[in-house]
Amino acid sequence: MISRLDPYEEAKKQLRVTSSILGLSEEEYEALATPERIVQVKVPVIMRDGKVKHFVGWRVQHNSALGPYKGGVRYSSETNLSEVMALAMWMTWKNSLAGLPYGGAKGGIQVDPFKLNQLELMQISKNYFSAITPFVGVDLDIPAPDVNTNPQTMAWFLEAYEERTGRMELGVVTGKPVELGGLNTRIYSTGLGVATIAEAAAKKLWGGIEGRTVAIQGFGNVGYYTAKFLAERGAKVVAISDIKGGIYSSKGFDPEKVKEFITKQGSGFVIDYQNVERRIANEELLTLDVDILVPAAVENVITPELGPKIRAKLIVEGANGPTSPEAEEILVKKGVVIVPDILANSGGVIMSHIEWVNNRMGGWITEDEAKAKLIQKMTDSFNAVWEFWEKRLGGLGGAYSMRAAAQAIAVDRVVRAMKLKGLI
Ligand code: NAD
Repeated sequence: MISRLDPYEEAKKQLRVTSSILGLSEEEYEALATPERIVQVKVPVIMRDGKVKHFVGWRVQHNSALGPYKGGVRYSSETNLSEVMALAMWMTWKNSLAGLPYGGAKGGIQVDPFKLNQLELMQISKNYFSAITPFVGVDLDIPAPDVNTNPQTMAWFLEAYEERTGRMELGVVTGKPVELGGLNTRIYSTGLGVATIAEAAAKKLWGGIEGRTVAIQGFGNVGYYTAKFLAERGAKVVAISDIKGGIYSSKGFDPEKVKEFITKQGSGFVIDYQNVERRIANEELLTLDVDILVPAAVENVITPELGPKIRAKLIVEGANGPTSPEAEEILVKKGVVIVPDILANSGGVIMSHIEWVNNRMGGWITEDEAKAKLIQKMTDSFNAVWEFWEKRLGGLGGAYSMRAAAQAIAVDRVVRAMKLKGLI
């Protein structure tokens, strides 16, 4: 949900709309908008030339009414405090909507990780986590990977925590390597969740997903696994793209074959795949005459200019913030169903919760059990949002998007917890 506008201001604007739907007071709105704690740290790294360079990092803990804070840590030269504050707030809503016993947080370091070598990356990760260690913990705040961080980063975080506290608590971070208590389901959990939600929405709209045509923008972690699980469910993935452009086939692609080609034989880009009817630009992919569109690349790709040209009946947001607010208004008026990111891409954090519980129990959950739990939780969340949207906000044809319904359910849960605790 990041936009080119100030992200925290945007997040507050969305909260204003939700507050008016729920009839919250100004004091309640303020209590929800304000983060509980902002930690800023300076992270020293001995660079390869022997000089010490300092980077700035943050951990923003937005709200803990429902449980310990939870949210990823990103490494990006673009990140800033406003972005981390907005992402922390969105994590509160995402965790609440999923019915997880977590509050919301986010972390970030302002750094271009592609300019660091492995040793520098290890230092920045360990020193950042050491600096925020007084504020994290298995029952306090549980970080996870986000943009440009991965299971290796989590292993460094875990080691820094153990070094600093003398305690080996596997559940202090999630998204860890399997050797350190991570789950092998984590890699595909977001895509599995997006496909589960697309199927649930297709059932509501058409009675099922079998034979429905799908266009997917982005063929990374989320895009590829979404394509794979949708094809397994009988949908026809007719278009796929990545940063270089896209491919189209009316017969549908086998996503596993495309993936195999681009990783093993090709250049790494889908545009070089051979069995295609035609190659298409990203913009064309977004406006194809398909049943389902899954933006799974970057934010703000569905612009107000593209809004009127979009022909898909169902948009399932795999990426964070792919639809601009103005475009959403146009699409809602056109009767397009948009399943919002906080619902559609919550598979990752749900799997993180399963990992955290497993670590705390010293358990050995199986892959099938973890998958079944994820599918159940996402289906329940989808049904709750659909029902609220239809019964309280007029549903399809009404003035509100499904995002408004999702956010209202999420904020309402947090409000009720805060009231019970005497916080508002
Ligand atoms: P990724 O880096 O694995 O893949 C991104 C894909 O998008 C690549 O195929 C890339 O070529 C393509 N892409 C990049 N810029 C593009 C552009 N301008 N036009 C078209 N394609 C472009 O990333 P990911 O992990 O798959 O994440 C994708 C989105 O999903 C992001 O918004 C991310 O925040 C969100 N998300 C990811 C997860 C997760 O578990 N990975 C969870 C929740 C949300």
